[in-house]
Amino acid sequence: MKKKILIVGGGTAGTMTANNLAKKLMPEIDRDELEITLISNSKYHYYKPGAMYVAFGKSEGYEFVRDQRALLMSEINFEVEEATEISTNGNFVKTKKGKKFDYDFLVLATGCEVAPERIPGLSEAGDWFYTYEGATKLAKKFHDIKKGRVLVTVNFPKTPNIPHQCGIAPVETTMMLHDFLTERGVRDDIEIIYTYPTVAQSVTNGLFMQEPTSNVLPSIFDSLGVKHQSGFTLSKVDAKKKVAISAEGEEIEFDILMSTPPFTATKFIRESGISQALDDEGWLPTDKETLKVKGLDNVYTLGDTVDLPVSKAGGTVHNQTDVVADNIASELRHGYTSESYDGLVIAIAQMGLSCGMPLWYNYDKDVAPTPCSKLGSFVRKGFNKGIYWAAARGMV
Ligand SMILES: Cc1cc2nc3c(=O)[nH]c(=O)nc-3n(C[C@H](O)[C@H](O)[C@H](O)COP(=O)(O)OP(=O)(O)OC[C@H]3O[C@@H](n4cnc5c(N)ncnc54)[C@H](O)[C@@H]3O)c2cc1C
Repeated sequence: MKKKILIVGGGTAGTMTANNLAKKLMPEIDRDELEITLISNSKYHYYKPGAMYVAFGKSEGYEFVRDQRALLMSEINFEVEEATEISTNGNFVKTKKGKKFDYDFLVLATGCEVAPERIPGLSEAGDWFYTYEGATKLAKKFHDIKKGRVLVTVNFPKTPNIPHQCGIAPVETTMMLHDFLTERGVRDDIEIIYTYPTVAQSVTNGLFMQEPTSNVLPSIFDSLGVKHQSGFTLSKVDAKKKVAISAEGEEIEFDILMSTPPFTATKFIRESGISQALDDEGWLPTDKETLKVKGLDNVYTLGDTVDLPVSKAGGTVHNQTDVVADNIASELRHGYTSESYDGLVIAIAQMGLSCGMPLWYNYDKDVAPTPCSKLGSFVRKGFNKGIYWAAARGMV
């Protein structure tokens, strides 16, 4: 009987994995023994890092969007459907429109979402660049501000040892902000304070979630005149007074609060009953090597929705997607998995508006920070402008 692979989520992880699966399993597709279907709740595919450039007036965002169908190989079925329910006993997913999709193998790739409402006052008085809407709002504020203080705050999930989306983004955007305000000629009149929570994944009282980078950040920030402070875990915002209040009992006034808000898995995953993550955060319990959802032999996951201790980043997905595709192909053909994920993350961080730093780490080795360079920025620009779309198509 014809086998069915169902992928839920048409973002970085779902798109790359669908294309990689179609390439690896082309003989089975040709013989009409296999069908690959991707469902997503949007007709469009957003390159999410593009939002950072929107926040600093470098893009209006349109070049970072593509039609989802156009990114998928023609052999893949695509439907715009919002998944609402999974039956892991019955091997099917149901959608909001009442459609039922059966599967032999399921890939869950619905990412994560911002949850500012989890901190009182943050939705009213805070800003974030993690969505295009939020970044557009910030762009106006960064364009208008002439003097005052921009406060940077970072919140981590309550579930231990899990990072927020794109671990390096708060550092990247702090440095981009410095460059942007310098370009505007108002930097001398605007104070930037970068804060970090007491507990950040495995690091305590640092400025980043990994020790080596945390150790070099003070001198980098000092050279830019950016104030920095660890031990500030945002717990409340007084929206009227524009004061950020920490769990450690400190208060800091701000004109603009550029926050990394709490994140959770998407509603569909949180309500699936599969996750036991703290505080209804919904991170999927994931086998760190096979990338199967623990306890579910024919369900895989990758990307921002997993509970692994690696950055929720495209540079992570890029190294997970082949493991998932190879394992499913091997299970279909031979009945066993063949690949193992070692936690590899590769990316180029945008350290300011024209400097790029390669990042490379895995489960065993932290990032070894190196000076950023113009060449790094050039490669990052190439990724933003085109390499990403080739990667999404499974070509890089
Ligand atoms: C501002 C910003 C900057 C970033 N910078 C970097 C960077 O410099 N380097 C880097 O490597 N990474 C970066 N990232 C992170 C990177 O974008 C994510 O890690 C990556 O997009 C995760 O892929 P994903 O497929 O897991 O999730 P997503 O790309 O978010 O895709 C999830 C998909 O699931 C769909 N979906 C959700 N719910 C449902 C449902 N119920 N039914 C059907 N479909 C559903 C969504 O529409 C979406 O298409 C950044 C992210 C942001 C926001």
